[in-house]
This record gives sequence, C-alpha cells and structure tokens, in this order.
Amino acid sequence: MMAPSSENKEHFVLEREYFQKLLDTLIQRGYRVVGPTVGEGAIVYTKLNSVADLPIGWTDEQDGGAYRLKKRDDQSLFGYVVGPQSWKKFLLPSALRLWQAKRVGKSFQIIPEDEKSQKFAFVGVRSCDMHAIAIQDKIFMNGQYGDSHYKSRRADAFILAVNCGKAGGTCFCVSMNTGPKTTFGFDLAMTEVLEGNRHYFVAETGTELGAEILHTTPHKKANKEEIFYADDVIKKTAGQMGRSMDTTDIKNLLYKNYEHPRWDNVAERCLACANCTLVCPTCFCTTVEDVTDLTGEHAERWRKLDSCFTMDFSYIHGGSVRSSTKARYRQWMTHKIATWIDQFGTSGCVGCGRCITWCPVAIDITEEARAIRESEPNLKRETAEGAEKTTHNHKEGI
Ligand code: SF4
Ligand code: SF4
Repeated sequence: MMAPSSENKEHFVLEREYFQKLLDTLIQRGYRVVGPTVGEGAIVYTKLNSVADLPIGWTDEQDGGAYRLKKRDDQSLFGYVVGPQSWKKFLLPSALRLWQAKRVGKSFQIIPEDEKSQKFAFVGVRSCDMHAIAIQDKIFMNGQYGDSHYKSRRADAFILAVNCGKAGGTCFCVSMNTGPKTTFGFDLAMTEVLEGNRHYFVAETGTELGAEILHTTPHKKANKEEIFYADDVIKKTAGQMGRSMDTTDIKNLLYKNYEHPRWDNVAERCLACANCTLVCPTCFCTTVEDVTDLTGEHAERWRKLDSCFTMDFSYIHGGSVRSSTKARYRQWMTHKIATWIDQFGTSGCVGCGRCITWCPVAIDITEEARAIRESEPNLKRETAEGAEKTTHNHKEGI
C-alpha cells in the first residue's frame, strides 16, 4: 500500500522546538503522557515528562532474532521503528489485580479493585500499532468480551500518531495494508521531517480535541513543499520493508494445511518460549491467579497475560489439549492469520515484525507462511485471479 495522497487534507507545521509545548499541554490537561524512551537496551514505552526523555538521535536495527540500538547521525525524535513493547503495556497490562478478599470473622469481604481513572496520552503511535489497538478495541470495548479495565484505560486516551520515517528489517505492514501511514484512530498524526537545517513535523488533525491541542502550540499552515517532504518520508519508508507476506486467500491456505510437514519443521526449531505472543500487539490471552498471604487473612485475584505456547494454557481436565510444540505453533500462527478472520473479521497480524525480531531462534511468520504457500502452486494460481485478500479486512477503523 502506498501512502494516500495528502493533497486534499489540511496540514500544519509544528517546528521541532515547539514539541515540548505540545507535551506540556497534554500534561497540564491531566494526561498521563507515555511514549518511547531508551531503556533496557531497547526503545521502550514509559512516562514522558519532557522531549529529553524521547530517544533523540537513536535508531534500531532489526532482523530475525536480532535487535540493536544504534546512534543516528541526526537528532530525530522518532527515528526508530518499534521496540519489544506495544501499547497493550498500558491498555492490557501484563499483570492486573482484579480484587482483594479480607477475612471478616468467619467470612471474607471482597474489595473490588478501584482502578484510578487513567487518562493516557500515547505519543508516537505507529500505523501498525494503531491497527492493533483497533483490533483490541473491537474485542474489549464492546460486545461479548467487553472488558471494563480496558475500557477505562482506552476511553479517554489521546493518540498522537507519528508516521514511520524508516522501516525495520522485520517490518511488513505494507503487505498487510496496515502502514506505514496512519490513516485513522488518531487525534493528531505527524510526520517528522529533517530537511537541510530544518527539523519540523507536518501534522494532521483527526479529532476536534486533536485540533484544540495543536492550537495551543505555535504552528502554521503547511506549504506544498513541506507536505511533499512529509509524503516523501512515508513513501521511502514504504519502499524499505524488510519482509512481506502474501495474504492472498491465506485463511484457506492454512485451513487446507493443518497436516503440512512444515509444522514439524518449525516445531524442531521452536522453543515454545512464548516471546512471540508477549511482544505481539494483538495477542491478548490472559489467565487468572489467586494468591494468599501466610496469615490466611488476605487473598488477591490477579489477571496475567498468558500464552498459547504454554502447556497450562490448553489444560482441560486431565491434560493439555495441545501438548506438542507443533500443535502450539500451528495454533498460534493459524489463529493469527486465519481463524482470527472468522472470529473478529480481521487478520490478527498487523505486520509489525516484533515476533520475528524477538524470537530467540529467528522463526519468521512470513517465512513459515511462504513455505506452506510454495507447496501449494495451484492455490496461488487460482486466487491470484481475484479471490479474497485478507488485507481487505484491515479496513479503516476496523
Ligand atoms: S504476529 Fe508478529 S508481525 Fe503479526 S502483529 Fe503479532 S508480533 Fe506483529
Ligand atoms: S516461535 Fe520463537 S518466540 Fe515463538 S514460542 Fe517459538 S521460539 Fe519462542
């Protein structure tokens, strides 16, 4: 997917020196501003107090099973791709206390968790991650699996998207139709431009609130040249994808191949470590754990992120349904890019590449899908003539 033309939309320019003012406005309005910083040898998300917290002048190099930070030769604020964390760190925390129980006489009093209202401002949301948030919104904001904790964290979240200025070695958002330009879901979206001696952001507003926040910060209407440079940044990023996935009729490709020998092949390499599910911005499976203290006076129930790669995950009365690594990898990949479509009307993969980068043995979902497809030449020919494309499920706003 190429970046949509920017010709008909109103664009503004915010000079780099005013980015702090933008953060200040969000902080003054009571937002808990979170975004990228350098920590633990990677770009991670944390509370931001100032522009100095951003990964100024840093970038990342990524490949299968490999990630390293590197200095850039400029002072870009958002010159990296994506790190191991996604916004689910805040929307779907890895551990969340649900309630406590306190002994009162011979009984227990349940104390529901009184989660303080969390008014987040997410700074630096990439297009693939905006799609991932939209997928989780669809599941947790409403409907059968609506989740009050997710809703309270998501409802008032301000989204400042930043379009990618470079693609990583494991990115494949273009083939998933999920990037690199953010096209929906944001309050404000920006493209960082470093051109000659100038450093500025070309901004689009997505909501009235986004416009209001922008108007608190010195800015001007963008001219044609500035818009051209911003579009060019996105165009170049789209041309740098490290990976691609052919999604043509991918659902049926996997449904037809439950017994494909490739599942044995990948099982010989997979450590069932669960890294891929933990870094994936759309994986959301959880478990609950009850804990008590030694006095027997106090107990707590916690919700924790779980993974279909653990034996316990599919334990049902007497044994695990998916006891082999082969069964667990097949379950994960088939769910991500096939059964998810039947369940939620969209692919569960947004092409961020995290599962490839953070797999300790460099297993690559695009490569596994390709290996299965290449053994199915007829399917490829039939569907190339216009059958369903999974990427069509990644509609705006999902
Ligand atoms: S399956 Fe991998 S590439 Fe796809 S969204 Fe999850 S982590 Fe990203
Ligand atoms: S595919 Fe890689 S990251 Fe995922 S469980 Fe297997 S070894 Fe771990």
